[in-house]
Amino acid sequence: MPKMRAVQVAQKGGLLESVERERPQPGFGEVRVKVQACGVCHSDCIAKDGLFPTVPYPIIPGHEVAGVIEAVGEGVVGWPIGTRVGVGWFGGHCGRCEPCRRGDMIACTNLRIPGINCDGGYAEAMVSPADALVRIPDDLSSEDAAPLLCAGVTTYNALRGSGARPGDLVAVLGIGGLGHLGVQFAAKMGFRTVAIARGADKESLARQLGAHIYLDSAAQDVAAELTRLGGAKAILATVPNAQAMSEVIPGLAVRGVLIVIGVGAEPIQVSALDLISGSRSVKGHASGTAIDSEDTLNFSVLSGVRPTIETMPLERAAEAYDRMMRAEARFRMVLTMGQ
Ligand SMILES: [Zn+2]
Ligand SMILES: [Zn+2]
Repeated sequence: MPKMRAVQVAQKGGLLESVERERPQPGFGEVRVKVQACGVCHSDCIAKDGLFPTVPYPIIPGHEVAGVIEAVGEGVVGWPIGTRVGVGWFGGHCGRCEPCRRGDMIACTNLRIPGINCDGGYAEAMVSPADALVRIPDDLSSEDAAPLLCAGVTTYNALRGSGARPGDLVAVLGIGGLGHLGVQFAAKMGFRTVAIARGADKESLARQLGAHIYLDSAAQDVAAELTRLGGAKAILATVPNAQAMSEVIPGLAVRGVLIVIGVGAEPIQVSALDLISGSRSVKGHASGTAIDSEDTLNFSVLSGVRPTIETMPLERAAEAYDRMMRAEARFRMVLTMGQ
């Protein structure tokens, strides 16, 4: 059996350790991807720390995977060897549960999530169902494609589904791994884009990313400023901070929506009056399916949106993960396999 290098977590709370594994064989309907790059996402802590009870140990983390098909299983049509492909959070759906039968595959109750409930992309190769694959455009490198398959599709899909129209005021709360993409997508979609972060030093970055307006939450009453600007049709909340999210809700326009994609430990607080007056809403948004990711990559090429990344070789996965967890990555860490 041919071997591969991989990085795994042996048990709940274990370390990221380099190992040699057998190269997995694709089953019916599956392909094997030769991994070229894999993003390091905050959600990888679900695998490392066992935050879902279903994590099968030992597990190879990673759900921002970009590479090339190197083997094709039986029953696969239209995905030949050599095709550049990616796999994101959406790693395959069951087709049998109620959400699947209603065509809402990202809500599949048996969703396959690479690196969370099956082996992911911190490896030289991984197996994926063909129906979870994303075509990578020629003009996009694997390193740049990787973070777009989770952080990218999440922000892009949330914004395009927000109900905001070109010219509407749209705010992005936080300029980190998610937010630096959210600001770019919002500006390129034609929204009057507000970036919100803490500190005056973030303003030049926000403007480089395309923000038309910058609000410093450490120095300004953000909700009052948004209201003064006419109110936000949508606010994309990317920060892992419930209090910051709660504070911006009164800055929503009539029928405005706060879209929550950052995960904080505390509950978000909202006054009933703020929701009722102006018919505002607060909602969550989960990633996107394979075709949503493909739309994200194509739009990124069309509009020039790119993630800001730091790359590290696979062997330094533990270091890359720690850097991400300490919020020191500018802005996404990407592991490269050298192949
Ligand atoms: Zn992710
Ligand atoms: Zn399903």
